[in-house]
Amino acid sequence: MYTRPLARLIEHLQHLPGVGPKTAQRLALHILKRPKEEVAALAQALLDAKQQVGHCSVCGHLSADPVCEICSSPKRDDRLLCVVEDSRDLIALEKTREYKGKYHVLGGLISPIDGIGPEQLNIQALVRRVSQQSIQEVIMAISPSVEGETTTLYVAHLLKPFTKVTRIAFGLPMGGDLEYADEVTLARALEGRRELE
Ligand code: ZN
Repeated sequence: MYTRPLARLIEHLQHLPGVGPKTAQRLALHILKRPKEEVAALAQALLDAKQQVGHCSVCGHLSADPVCEICSSPKRDDRLLCVVEDSRDLIALEKTREYKGKYHVLGGLISPIDGIGPEQLNIQALVRRVSQQSIQEVIMAISPSVEGETTTLYVAHLLKPFTKVTRIAFGLPMGGDLEYADEVTLARALEGRRELE
């Protein structure tokens, strides 16, 4: 049906999240119609992003620099720390423009079924950060799934000796993803945060 290089392109595109066979075909045919320079720029952007983007050594957020822009910004409040599962959730919270503190990205959730324990997550660095800096409040902003609850309680238990730990108020269904909450809902969830007992 497709000549071989085209079939390969469609195959690769299909591996992207949310892209089915039809969309992959549409994208591939679109790419073939574009000028060569534009396609080259796309390919280069893919490679550059993969090669240059790593993790911030302080918070774990995606960053091309050793320390990300949020961590190095003097405008952000050092006394507030918001703990999220991954960079997607951080970006969702940033879009609300409500939060002016800093972040800590765990890089996943504790999930014994998937063989993910606390030691595989960015938790040690978090405890070090909180125990060594004067942080007034740690806000747990983790989706309320089973894994999210386990992780929230585990992390809160470790941090409570050092600071106040709160969690955002979820008006979302269990297992609701931060990423899919609209900005108003997220801002409200942040505002309505409560201390973890
Ligand atoms: Zn950072």
